[in-house]
Amino acid sequence: MSTVAAVLAAARTRLPASEARLLLGHVLGRSTAWLIAHDDELLDEAALLSFASLAARRRGGEPVAYLLGYREFYGREFMVSPSVLIPRPETEILVDLALAEVRIRDRAFLAAAGAEGEGARILDLGTGSGCIAITLSLEIPSAQVCAVDASEAALRVAGANAKRMKASLRLLRSDWFGALRGETFDLIVTNPPYVAEADPHLAADDLRYEPPPALASGTDGLDAIRRIIAAAPKYLTPGGQLWLEHGYDQADAVRELLSAAGLGTVEQHRDVAGIVRVSGGRLL
Ligand code: GLN
Repeated sequence: MSTVAAVLAAARTRLPASEARLLLGHVLGRSTAWLIAHDDELLDEAALLSFASLAARRRGGEPVAYLLGYREFYGREFMVSPSVLIPRPETEILVDLALAEVRIRDRAFLAAAGAEGEGARILDLGTGSGCIAITLSLEIPSAQVCAVDASEAALRVAGANAKRMKASLRLLRSDWFGALRGETFDLIVTNPPYVAEADPHLAADDLRYEPPPALASGTDGLDAIRRIIAAAPKYLTPGGQLWLEHGYDQADAVRELLSAAGLGTVEQHRDVAGIVRVSGGRLL
């Protein structure tokens, strides 16, 4: 029999302490705070074996989020599986921008209508775990959110997350705009695949385990972005906006694509590292 403290100390040579705590907490169904407060607790054989197996998989490179089955995004826990991209903190910028835009739009709309208007119509392309769409739907209950993905498996994960968090949104299988003919939206958001196919990062770290169609997109990484931007004007209401996340070196290309598609007032925003990560334009 070993204590929590002994097991964590022994793991330290092989895993970062924070990861070891997350994995052991997961095995025990306890928070990391509990582990710290109860480090003299004895672990049974089953717990030791489960922890050893998770620790070995982590050492083999599997992402912590897939081992735990969830990742936090915008203050909520989203279930994840290897069918979906693991939510990343930089994508929270996209959510912040979308929230600000919808709140401005709704205020203007309601003032003009002088009455209760319909909520903003929002579309999330390539929703994956649903983290963007579900967050927007929960943060703006009046919004009508539609989320699409080409992957049936991803839609199942998004659907399970929406159900668990009681978010109301429409989930649709669609290759980008493919299944949305004739519909228009006030806001389109997307975190599409944008890594170049030959980028060595795809063969490193967590990216090895994530679904390739959610990461890579053509030789320059811009295939999906080109398709989305070119088609977006047809699916936007007048004044409607498209916001997208893109790669660290794609800001200029994305700005040009937005302008070429007739989307004006292009705005670009930096992440905490100072890299332009999110760009958006408006249908004038
Ligand atoms: N930001 C991710 C990465 O480079 C890529 C996600 C994406 O392609 N949408 O790790």
